[in-house]
Amino acid sequence: MSVFWNSRAAGISPYVPGEQPRDRKLIKLNTNENPYPPSPKVISAIEEILSGGESLRLYPDPLCLKFREAVADAYGVKPSQVFPGNGSDEVLAFAFGAFFESSSNSLIGSADYQAILFPDITYSFYPVYAQLWGIPFRTILLREDFSINLGDYAIPAGGVIIPNPNAPTGRALPASDFLQLARNLERDNKVLIVDEAYTAFGAESMVPHIADHPNLLTVHTMSKSASLAGLRVGFAIGSEKLIEGLFRVRDSFNSYTMDALALAGGAAAVLNRPYYDRINQKVIAARERTAAALETMGFEVIPSKANFLFITKPGISGAALFQSLRDKGILVRHFNKHRTADYLRVSIGTDDDMDAFLAACKAIICRS
Ligand code: PMP
Repeated sequence: MSVFWNSRAAGISPYVPGEQPRDRKLIKLNTNENPYPPSPKVISAIEEILSGGESLRLYPDPLCLKFREAVADAYGVKPSQVFPGNGSDEVLAFAFGAFFESSSNSLIGSADYQAILFPDITYSFYPVYAQLWGIPFRTILLREDFSINLGDYAIPAGGVIIPNPNAPTGRALPASDFLQLARNLERDNKVLIVDEAYTAFGAESMVPHIADHPNLLTVHTMSKSASLAGLRVGFAIGSEKLIEGLFRVRDSFNSYTMDALALAGGAAAVLNRPYYDRINQKVIAARERTAAALETMGFEVIPSKANFLFITKPGISGAALFQSLRDKGILVRHFNKHRTADYLRVSIGTDDDMDAFLAACKAIICRS
């Protein structure tokens, strides 16, 4: 606390990202990074930008046209339907600011003013953005098995945001399940955001439905499926009016959120689908093998379409299992909250990483 903080800075509870260990050589299965390197074409594109330094001397293109054209090409949309950002966290922050109403707004008390909705167990940055912008929110309980019941969202709302697959559970819904919700919200001029951070690992994208739903925004990251967490590249796809809304907020904040290296590397990655399909198939195969091995050991494993597994072992607390794995040099993620305290989220690494993880689990179980 400081007397110099205004009430906003004093009142927020910032998001705490997963640990990036510096000290020890840990097998890092805690922040859903891709275990495989980015495409060599990404490295060449970045090296080309660096050679000569001219692209560093100049400001990058504020419209990010080449990058947006590459995304448009890869996803079958127009560049004007693509919003570029410094990682999808930033895109999400702008989306909350552009589409969800703040309680400081004069609409309070009017029929147009309602809380936004998202699941009780989901990406823990959503309540942080809501708090930052002063947006009222309401969480909707997942079922006992951690599945989302979209019927529960058919209530008046200021907007809805849901990741598909959900994080940290990994459970996914078919894209068509969201269409009724999109239509309901459209009737009330409200936006549905589907966070597709993990869709490339086996879920269905909503992008083909964007043409029919002007209030549907999909948000994408290159951190996981494109092995570029360090470059900070994300984007949204939606109707031109939604994209224009995002630019209005961005350009009231910083016109150059993506630097020259991120623009070049991101474009090269998005255009190299075959490479990424290959490495992500390896991640999916490792996920399935790991899930089966864990079940054999008596773990409960939530069915996952993401590059992580959400697991629990009856009889061992999440905190104890987290610490025992850490002692064996394996770092996973523990969300010490109601309903998730006995679960761990395990990012899928290389086959060697997963063998080491499974061996550690076996040793811990035999001992306990
Ligand atoms: N959405 C979800 C559901 C995530 O888990 C993450 C990663 N923490 C993000 C968005 C943000 O990813 P990035 O900012 O690296 O693009």
